[in-house]
Amino acid sequence: MELIERFLKYVSFDTQSSEEGEGCPSTDKQMVFARYLENELKAIGLEEVSLDEHGYLYATLPANTEREVPTIGFIAHIDTSPDYSGKDVKPRIVEQYDGGDIVLCAEEGIVTSPKQFPELSDHVGEDLIVTDGYTLLGADDKAGIAEIMQAMVYLREHPEIKRGRIRVGFNPDEEIGMGAHLFDVEKFGCEWAYTMDGGEVGELEFENFNAAAAKVTVRGLNVHPGYAKGKMRNAMLTAAEFIRRMPSDETPQTTEGYEGFYHLTGMKGTVEETVLSYIIRDHDRQKFENRKAFVRQLAEELNAENGEGTVTVEVRDQYYNMREKVEPVMHIIDIAKKAIEASGVECRVKAIRGGTDGAQLSFKGLPCPNIFAGGLNFHGRHEFVPVQSMEKAMMTIVKIAELTALR
Ligand SMILES: [Zn+2]
Repeated sequence: MELIERFLKYVSFDTQSSEEGEGCPSTDKQMVFARYLENELKAIGLEEVSLDEHGYLYATLPANTEREVPTIGFIAHIDTSPDYSGKDVKPRIVEQYDGGDIVLCAEEGIVTSPKQFPELSDHVGEDLIVTDGYTLLGADDKAGIAEIMQAMVYLREHPEIKRGRIRVGFNPDEEIGMGAHLFDVEKFGCEWAYTMDGGEVGELEFENFNAAAAKVTVRGLNVHPGYAKGKMRNAMLTAAEFIRRMPSDETPQTTEGYEGFYHLTGMKGTVEETVLSYIIRDHDRQKFENRKAFVRQLAEELNAENGEGTVTVEVRDQYYNMREKVEPVMHIIDIAKKAIEASGVECRVKAIRGGTDGAQLSFKGLPCPNIFAGGLNFHGRHEFVPVQSMEKAMMTIVKIAELTALR
């Protein structure tokens, strides 16, 4: 089986994860695909293939050199996003894309157009795998799985490429933020690893947000409105004042690149009590700490004006920027850059405006940057992946194995 054939087989499995799911994996259907992959890993000759009861699948490609080479790993996730159906995916290959509109479904007039998705223009002349307009594609992250699988086949078939021991890890529930949760870093036993879960060809990511959630509770005092003069304190109005004093130009819709933000994600209120939910994001650890301090300070300011205990703030850290874990081992970035370039693409380092499984793994002791898998427009019907991008991702894995042994 070749790379594309594998990918097309994988997207036929519905592996949507669910925020409502209770166990791990969050949906049983992920386990069905995990078992299929378990057999395939054995069939291509990998060793120590093991699938645990939570859907975490590990395997080993043994070293073929006597030299001492660090064990490294490649990781991808088996689930697809809860945001869009991944059932009965019917992929189609648009050969030698001509740069125009791609009709996904003629009856319903569903079209992927470069006017709406300008990134299409970077892939003219390539072969694009698209959906039929009713589901997502699942290139996130089945492209990553196919690339890793095919790279292992390639390395086995090319014994002249000397490499150390390579570990493969496939995990469930990445899309609901739980992919790294039960990942057994000790059993995986790698010095470092890469998630194959990025987007556009050439991308390499080793920075993500520091993240916290803040719950702001405002207490008021309800009195009959006809007799309220000098007595009533309306929690909603105080909450509105809190919102007004937050920096209005530091929100998701006004920031990009390395700019952090405060994001009001929810508000729920009565005169008696109003709760504001914020998420706080910044790549820079010090600025991140300053942002959290600012929210607390604002609460104190309002307490000074309205009485002690009017506003209380609970801040909970969610995840941190993996950069601080990757910086001491920058050779793992150098190797990835060289490998990407050796596979024939320009390497583009980009800071993630979010988190990744790799960030959590990095803090669990496994430094884990993220490499492109090639897919675009994730989590919806316009998702597509160029065949040529997948081939380059596959070769990047091969080159990383080779370069790691040459160090
Ligand atoms: Zn993904």
